[in-house]
Amino acid sequence: MSRPLFDRIAIIGVGLIGSSIARAARAQGAVREIVATARSPETRKRVAALGLADEVVETNAQAVEGADLVIVCIPVGTCGVVAKEIGPHLKRGAIVSDVGSVKSAVIRDMGPHLPETVQFVPAHPVAGTEHSGPDAGFAELFDGRWCILTPPEGTDAEAVDRLAAFWRRLGAKVEIMTPEHHDIVLAITSHVPHLIAYNIVGTAADMEEVTQSEVVKFSAGGFRDFTRIAASDPVMWRDVFINNKEAVLEMLGRFSEDLAALQRMIRWEDSAALEALFTRTRAIRRGIIEAGQDTEAADFGRPHGHDD
Ligand code: NAP
Repeated sequence: MSRPLFDRIAIIGVGLIGSSIARAARAQGAVREIVATARSPETRKRVAALGLADEVVETNAQAVEGADLVIVCIPVGTCGVVAKEIGPHLKRGAIVSDVGSVKSAVIRDMGPHLPETVQFVPAHPVAGTEHSGPDAGFAELFDGRWCILTPPEGTDAEAVDRLAAFWRRLGAKVEIMTPEHHDIVLAITSHVPHLIAYNIVGTAADMEEVTQSEVVKFSAGGFRDFTRIAASDPVMWRDVFINNKEAVLEMLGRFSEDLAALQRMIRWEDSAALEALFTRTRAIRRGIIEAGQDTEAADFGRPHGHDD
């Protein structure tokens, strides 16, 4: 096995993503030592019982002492408070990163609390499932998935390279972009699709003439796939929408315009326009499969769950 890329890594928040990082880092020998912490004593106890870290500590400040790499793996709305807690305790020269699904707001909230003696390299592994907590993670989660790094201007290039090498060791492919660009791209590829799923499942739940049992019985008609996405963590997604407000609202505006156009096509029985759109969207699906981001398999190639 190749030699470790970091001596001591601190993982703050050991849910789906944090525990997957711990498992993958161990499996790949990416770090020599893992120290972890979570907010509640119950989660910390579970992390220790699962043996996910060499050391499980009680506070975020304790976790970062002496760590060369700190990865904050908590809901984006909490990142600022945690950065304030850890700021004074960070080792000189440490790399501080996160995994938040939104990047501009995280940089805005964390940046001011981090000392100039550390390098801040925000990241977003574009991989996940609808499950949460330390039991939900698995070492292969990042295999073949993208991890987007969004270093603020002036970040040391060597720190960016070191973090990129870490994510590659965990199996991910790395791309670098600005936080603003990340937030727009993810608004349309992830955030708005989740919002649509939450909305359609909510609408179905409100329909009195369709009984609950019929919703379940006939769910294979398409609804089932929406319910999977709409089962995603409520706190994580609450924070994503509030912290990527501008980009999500911009994409929702476009979405609503296109939906109105579709309504019109149906009303006027514009068969050609409907068929042309559905043909175009089918080609996008093929492109995703060709790019290795999904498979035709019945389990969608994701035996552990699904991507977000
Ligand atoms: P999760 O499974 O709900 O885990 C969150 C963890 O954060 C829990 O261990 C929680 O501790 C801990 N935590 C919360 N506040 C904390 C605090 N103030 N100090 C220390 N620990 C704290 O969440 P997740 O799905 O791993 O998501 C984590 C981050 O990854 C989010 O920012 C999300 O946007 C991003 N992300 C998620 C996905 C996905 O598909 N889920 C994909 C890519 C990126 P307790 O258990 O004690 O509450």
